[in-house]
Amino acid sequence: QAKDSGKNRYHRYTRELNALVTKRIQMEADLRTALDQDRITVHFQPRVALPDGNTTGVEALARWELPDGGMVSPGEFIPIAEETGLIIPLGLVVLEKSLNQIQTLHQAGQDLYLSVNLSPKQFQQPDLVESVDAVLRKTGFPANRLEFEITETLIMKHLETSLGNLHRLSRRGIRLAIDDFGTGYSSLYYLKRLPIDVLKVDRSFVQDVEDDPSDAKLVETIILLAKNFGLRLVAEGVETQGQLDFLNALHCDEIQGYLFSKPLPFEALRQYLEQDGATT
Ligand code: C2E
Ligand code: MG
Ligand code: MG
Ligand code: MG
Repeated sequence: QAKDSGKNRYHRYTRELNALVTKRIQMEADLRTALDQDRITVHFQPRVALPDGNTTGVEALARWELPDGGMVSPGEFIPIAEETGLIIPLGLVVLEKSLNQIQTLHQAGQDLYLSVNLSPKQFQQPDLVESVDAVLRKTGFPANRLEFEITETLIMKHLETSLGNLHRLSRRGIRLAIDDFGTGYSSLYYLKRLPIDVLKVDRSFVQDVEDDPSDAKLVETIILLAKNFGLRLVAEGVETQGQLDFLNALHCDEIQGYLFSKPLPFEALRQYLEQDGATT
């Protein structure tokens, strides 16, 4: 009973908090080192058009490669990069590497879209558009084959500051996608007001379309919404033939998911596309 006295609880709490803070500080230092040592790389997940299954593009996903061959997931390091501001140099690395690599596929005659995730801090950089322009110039990548993925939460939180950047990117022919659609605190108002081209339905809704009627209705409604607003609809996280059949029946435009391919290192992507053969 004395074990759970307020004092003991307090000590346990501060001990856990200290451990957590120490872990984050360590992770920040490690992430800095990883950037210095060029250990941030990019994997690419194919995006496939329905109903024919042609690969239309790829999403760039950041990877942190450890010296022992292991991998830190972006779910762990992107939030820390975002909090510490390291997302700015990291985001630039992802942009430069992915545009460079996919541009070599363009030069080999493969007309692919490239989607790159942008986080809130990147989006609020006053010189975001200038640095995007610089990378486009440096790599020769066509602006009209580039797409940026942003989340609803980002837009809702920073609507006024985001507007300018969104319009400037859009005027360059860059496509804009809402990522994880349906999970944020959203207002449908922005569908009308912002230059959005693509909605990506979150994986959590796609997962259960076969056995949860309300998720099925939700996905169906989002598909209709996209059609009514003239947006392309991408379903994320498609893993089963049943999910694919469901989405095909509703005339979903594109899908992305393990059913077709996991995110791949660049060389593996190149091989995947060769076997796939069907890129336009
Ligand atoms: P996201 O942008 O929504 O990316 C999709 C995530 O779902 C990826 O996880 C992908 O590997 C995973 N996924 C795709 N298909 C399936 C499937 O069929 N089943 C399952 N279970 N998962 C699937 P990943 O690569 O771990 O990335 C996680 C998140 O980290 C991304 O979610 C994105 O929000 C963020 N992220 C990744 N790279 C970057 C980046 O370069 N910059 C920024 N700002 N965020 C990034
Ligand atoms: Mg994404
Ligand atoms: Mg997503
Ligand atoms: Mg996500």
